[in-house]
Amino acid sequence: TPGIRPLIAGNWKMHGLAADGLALARAVAAGATAGADLVVCPPATLVAAVAAALAGTPVATGGQDCHAAAKGAHTGDIAAAMLADAGARFVILGHSERRAAYRETDPTVRAKAEAAIAAGLTPIVCVGEPEDDRLLGRAEEVVADQIGGSLPPGFGAAGGVVAYEPVWAIGTGRTPTEADIAAMHAMIRARLVAAFPAEGAGLRILYGGSVKPSNAAGIMALANVDGALVGGASLVAEDFLAIAAAA
Ligand code: PEP
Repeated sequence: TPGIRPLIAGNWKMHGLAADGLALARAVAAGATAGADLVVCPPATLVAAVAAALAGTPVATGGQDCHAAAKGAHTGDIAAAMLADAGARFVILGHSERRAAYRETDPTVRAKAEAAIAAGLTPIVCVGEPEDDRLLGRAEEVVADQIGGSLPPGFGAAGGVVAYEPVWAIGTGRTPTEADIAAMHAMIRARLVAAFPAEGAGLRILYGGSVKPSNAAGIMALANVDGALVGGASLVAEDFLAIAAAA
């Protein structure tokens, strides 16, 4: 989108021990070019170390989830302020793997996004339709509902990021057609402008789902695609950097 600086976010998921995670983060920082903002989202155990290793580089660090509460009796969970304290600037929320495995609903994701913003983090809120909804022709309706339910009022002012990730495209090597991506992103843009009149036109909408160096340029060139959320390919520094170079 003209005037929007692209964001390329790497979702490492549950990959990375200290040695390989730090090596990956350093390799990304060493190859970072000026054309896009970069963020890597390591597992929670590595957020502090990766953020420290990336200090002074243009690459930011993010978490992969946070709890909606500021603190409390939530064994195993991590508060947004803890991520910020560890050096994170972003947090991925409502990833389809969490919506599926932990039954995260739109209201849950919205509460988490609110907590993230309160802690000074930029939320990257994921939306995306399961394959049966795509086949039944209701993908845009499903995603519009997720947008309506998952974004808190402060999302626009906080510079929140939306990631459109069709569930069936994640880790499968399959992607929607470029026309389908463009149509979905145009719908999301319209919803953002309606919900956040002051900021909606400038918020970043990422595409995610089997983004690779080979398809990145075509996808990144589409209207209203302002970067990518990258899973598998973010674990290989040269692939992640090649995607960033295509943005
Ligand atoms: C993701 O899970 O956010 C993702 C986009 O995964 P992949 O790139 O591996 O499809």
